[in-house]
Amino acid sequence: GNPICECNTCFSGPDCSQFIAGCDANVNSGDPLFLEPFWMQHAASSALLVAGWHRMSYSFSDGSYMSQQLEKRIRKVHEIVGNANTTGRFIVFGSGSILLLNAAVYALSLDNSSSPAGVVASIPYYPAYKEQTNFFRSLDYRFIGDTSMWENTSDVKTNVIEFVTSPNNPDAQLKKAVLQGPFVKTIYDHAYYWPHFTAIPAPADEDLMIFTLSKLTGHAGSRFGWALIKNETVYQRMLQYTRENSFGVSRDTQLRALKLLEVVLEGEGKEIFDFGYKTMKDRWEKLSKILSVSKRFSIQQIAPRYCTYFQQVRGPSPAYAWFKCEREENKDCYAVLSAAGITGRDGNLFGAGSGYVRLSLIRTQDDFDLMLQKMETLVSGEDGIE
Ligand code: PMP
Repeated sequence: GNPICECNTCFSGPDCSQFIAGCDANVNSGDPLFLEPFWMQHAASSALLVAGWHRMSYSFSDGSYMSQQLEKRIRKVHEIVGNANTTGRFIVFGSGSILLLNAAVYALSLDNSSSPAGVVASIPYYPAYKEQTNFFRSLDYRFIGDTSMWENTSDVKTNVIEFVTSPNNPDAQLKKAVLQGPFVKTIYDHAYYWPHFTAIPAPADEDLMIFTLSKLTGHAGSRFGWALIKNETVYQRMLQYTRENSFGVSRDTQLRALKLLEVVLEGEGKEIFDFGYKTMKDRWEKLSKILSVSKRFSIQQIAPRYCTYFQQVRGPSPAYAWFKCEREENKDCYAVLSAAGITGRDGNLFGAGSGYVRLSLIRTQDDFDLMLQKMETLVSGEDGIE
């Protein structure tokens, strides 16, 4: 049967083909529906039927609440992609990687110091680091701002926890830790370190790395992420966090993740990563082409790089465009785009100021195409461009 039961935004009618006039292009959230067509092509092999009696228990037969089968598949996926070294690492599952971000902050903040650990990230940063850290208002940690404010401070004497997002959300750059030293701990958020979005120059090999199913298979709604952790004490604390918080990830979600990863692993990931890379690369090229003639607007530069997964030099295919309004009179860039019918995400949220807007390129093809159409109109209306 027809798998579509709801129309995409901006479309209506019995077969969802009628465009709703005046509808804005939504390129705000990072909903990874660009992978939906891939899963439609693999509907049967990725389908799951769960009998009513199955997986009722709190725990698996070994008494744990994390599936060992799933853990094995995760290690295998990293091995075939070559994006992370899992050797000697413990794994903790979380209900989305978002839960693991705070679990990691919690685990790294516990030391014997009397003052709270300071949490930092480099501008432009993924807004959840600040939002979460402030929201939980712990005695053990607090958000203290941009990494660059601490860079030259050799006398950092309290614990600092640096978030490093690589590739970065919003600007897709591959990043390394800025801060070093005995008081510094680092959380690597590798949500986008997959061949869909970036060249993979080498396996990530850091002490604490966080990944998510959301950006690997696109199943953001299943809420599944994992952390690879070298230090056993940090692992135990993160495990405790997930125990206290939720008693672990839904066993149904773990079953679904297992099934999806089995499909990913078919042919060593070739199908899904070819699909993901081609889709994202095509979107980036189309947007770049339109903006190449603009004097008012620009997007970030991303250099081609050798990818060990594809074994070739490959061009950019980022998850987001980091859109800049170049002229002073357009400094409320979000408003400029809104007026043109494009809803992005305000640069202020990323600590970057209102001259920037993040455009999500990972949503449905309809969302992307509509944005492209509106962008073309916006750019062609510029002075001096016909
Ligand atoms: N980290 C980064 C950098 C992200 O962009 C996102 C989602 N947009 C997450 C973590 C959280 O993803 P989830 O909770 O779905 O795993």
